[in-house]
Amino acid sequence: MKKLGLGSAAGIFGMFGSNTYAQARENRVQGAYAKGLPPVKIKSVKAIATAPAGSNLIVVKVETSEPGLYGLGCATFTQRAAVVVTAIDSYLNDFCAGKDVDNIEDMWHSAYVSSYWRNGPVLNNALSGLDQALWDIKGKRANMPVYQLLGGKCRFGVDTYAHANGKTPEELADNVQKFMDEGFRHVRIQQGGYGAAHLAQKADFKEAKFAAEADVFMDQHTYLKSVPKMFEVVRKRCGETVELLHDIHERVEPMDAINMIKKLEEYSPFFIEDPFSPENMKWFKTLRQHTSVPIAMGELFNNINEFKEPMAEQLFDYIRIHVSQIGGITPAMKVARLGEWFNVKTAWHGPGDVSPVGHSAHTHMDFATWNFGIQEAGRFSEQLQEVFPGCPTVKNGYMFVNEVPGIGVDINEKLAAKYPIGTKSNWQVRKRDGTSIRP
Ligand code: MG
Repeated sequence: MKKLGLGSAAGIFGMFGSNTYAQARENRVQGAYAKGLPPVKIKSVKAIATAPAGSNLIVVKVETSEPGLYGLGCATFTQRAAVVVTAIDSYLNDFCAGKDVDNIEDMWHSAYVSSYWRNGPVLNNALSGLDQALWDIKGKRANMPVYQLLGGKCRFGVDTYAHANGKTPEELADNVQKFMDEGFRHVRIQQGGYGAAHLAQKADFKEAKFAAEADVFMDQHTYLKSVPKMFEVVRKRCGETVELLHDIHERVEPMDAINMIKKLEEYSPFFIEDPFSPENMKWFKTLRQHTSVPIAMGELFNNINEFKEPMAEQLFDYIRIHVSQIGGITPAMKVARLGEWFNVKTAWHGPGDVSPVGHSAHTHMDFATWNFGIQEAGRFSEQLQEVFPGCPTVKNGYMFVNEVPGIGVDINEKLAAKYPIGTKSNWQVRKRDGTSIRP
């Protein structure tokens, strides 16, 4: 049948005198693709756990039947890292062994339902590690950076925002200026960390010996008053051109968040992030009726279906997906493309508890997404760069990938083993009377 098809194709093109095209087509039909890329199977899937910069990082390594060909993917759920390691080593390895490396879409869907019960942060992170590693392998096989496989570059560099902090608005403004001097055009401003907890005076719950000693007291009222003041001082000192961002990180009552965001309108924020927890999605309609300040949302969503309705209703402006949390590049690109239809832009979550492999995956997607908005900049310490050769680079506020086939980041496993992960994490924030606050 193949020969028959070939002969007739060549014949037809020969009739029209297009021998070069006919020859090229013939090569494709004969399987030049298959000749160039012999079948490759997954040999093993394993987790690598390391904490070179203090944060627990988990990376998946997929080894293949082709000697020397492997892929890496970010599976970092920093707060429960050891559980993700078990999910990868005990379950994903068995599930993947012997399967074809090429069929990423099918692998994603079949791995997603392989436990029947699905869609939690542990399994989604494990799945992300697999997904990104398969994209890395596909890039290496195609001899192309991953952004080429996603559609090629829409821009020369990926514009990022830096994190500035300060105990006072004045100290914060000085730190914003430092980033502006480095070339950043976008800076996130926080006064003393999320919720400005250092401004809180007296934790009655601590005196009553209610809850753990390490739990943080946040005075919501003081925080809400401090944010417009912080914007006022930074705008006065740093001027109108720098784009300012702020993360509420949930932490306040929905109506209080709305009232505060209205006060920020005069300072033209680039976006305000996470005004509500994912449990409070219906408040977005009220927010939109009262203010036009751009909003970013979604780092705590688990499933891409959670983005569908709010994006179709244009309830927020920037997609804050934590890429490993939703299962990797494959689902993230679907949400990015959905955003194109509704003019909702990407702003992948890129804090220190994303591995350099994950940061690089973000940057590849940013290059290939027309409706890219902004990228939270990765910062790569010397230790991180030693453990992960090929980290993305940041210059003049733009992030760039290592221009090699695949995702572009490798791992030194011996060195990674020198930085063991820990199991302690405390995200507990409380009101004056000890009531737990969603963090
Ligand atoms: Mg956030």
